[in-house]
Amino acid sequence: MTFKDLEIIEPILKALSAEGYTHPTPIQEQSIPILLNRNDLLGCAQTGTGKTAAFAVPILQHLFLDHKSTSKNQRKIRALIITPTRELAIQISDSFTAYGKFTGIKNTVIFGGVKQGGQTDTLRRGVDVLVATPGRLLDLMNQGYISLKDVEYFVLDEADHMLDMGFIHDIKKIIAKLPTKRQSLFFSATMPADIVDLSRKILGNPQRVTVKPEQATAEKVEQAIYFVSKKSKPKLLVHLLENQAVESTLVFSRTKHGADKIVRFLQKADISAAAIHGNKSQGARQRALGDFKSGETSVLVATDIAARGIDIDELSLVINYDLPNIPETYVHRIGRTGRASASGIAISFCDAEERAFLRDIQKLIDQKIPVVTEHPFIADSIDDAPVDVEKSQKKSRPKKSGNGGGRNNGWKHRKPAAKKQG
Ligand code: AMP
Repeated sequence: MTFKDLEIIEPILKALSAEGYTHPTPIQEQSIPILLNRNDLLGCAQTGTGKTAAFAVPILQHLFLDHKSTSKNQRKIRALIITPTRELAIQISDSFTAYGKFTGIKNTVIFGGVKQGGQTDTLRRGVDVLVATPGRLLDLMNQGYISLKDVEYFVLDEADHMLDMGFIHDIKKIIAKLPTKRQSLFFSATMPADIVDLSRKILGNPQRVTVKPEQATAEKVEQAIYFVSKKSKPKLLVHLLENQAVESTLVFSRTKHGADKIVRFLQKADISAAAIHGNKSQGARQRALGDFKSGETSVLVATDIAARGIDIDELSLVINYDLPNIPETYVHRIGRTGRASASGIAISFCDAEERAFLRDIQKLIDQKIPVVTEHPFIADSIDDAPVDVEKSQKKSRPKKSGNGGGRNNGWKHRKPAAKKQG
């Protein structure tokens, strides 16, 4: 299957080819025909599957073929994409720019935490596609800068995270302002009851596409667990980073404060690191991300919310400094490596208090994550660990092949051939 087989028009085919995309990903293969047929779509898929192109390409194609936007007419917002985080919003906007670069279709992105002047100037000049986070969108709607009355295509992205982040009321207010005649797309990595409820309020009679259930991401990624006491985690992290030839590492911390602390001790150990989390200004976040992408800093420390949607080429390794208490979060985190068709490596630290989280994670992914039993801080973890768990873990030494194992866990010289981001 090629993009041409999906009846994508020439200007977009050219742009996809310039991005280096040769074949559609499964979600693209399934969603593009549905969307080109103007059906509503309920997509169960997470970031990393290629879902941005799955919705951006058909929207661009419709907009292009409908010929309503010309430079002579004032452009109207005909497609609206809302997404929970600024980083993801920027990324989606960049994707529209990349895939639409031969179509003449204009997009812009708006998000909070920065002055609105630049955003309202661009809006005044006219755009066809608007990518937004909910708060700033409502704010600018209330100030009269944005009207949604011409929206024909509406995308709600990462619906589960929208709800986790408390955006439900904002979303309802936005939906109330949309024309009833429109094509709607709804994406969520998970589909609990409240998400299904919300999707019913937005979608007409949707076609469903489910790709890569949560577990499948985990299968692609080489994983390892290090049992370690809480107090030895900093030393273990420094030890791993110093001893492995890995170029870019994303470290997850459960809290913002924890992320800052990790950066401080890494810097003390002469390891270049920066943090990205909600307390940092938008400028600082973009700078940290830019430095990380360019290779200037080798370690980016992030909280879960800040890391949503961050798409980093050549991300070699993810380290869970803390295990998340929500098992789905683990899958999201390790999905930061192993993007699109690349494979990746994810290492998790687990202290005595986190054993229950580990159990839940292993249940969700239906895998036993290999344990690395040989590392300099294992003694601490034995002191720390409940006896029965430790015994069983000592028996289950990591396998050499399959999804990892061994002292270096096989990841020292590996570098996933990650694709260019969109
Ligand atoms: P997304 O899920 O939209 O965030 O996409 C994940 C990554 O896959 C991004 O880096 C995209 O640039 C990349 N990607 C999307 N579609 C394709 C494709 N058909 N072939 C190769 N890479 C792709």
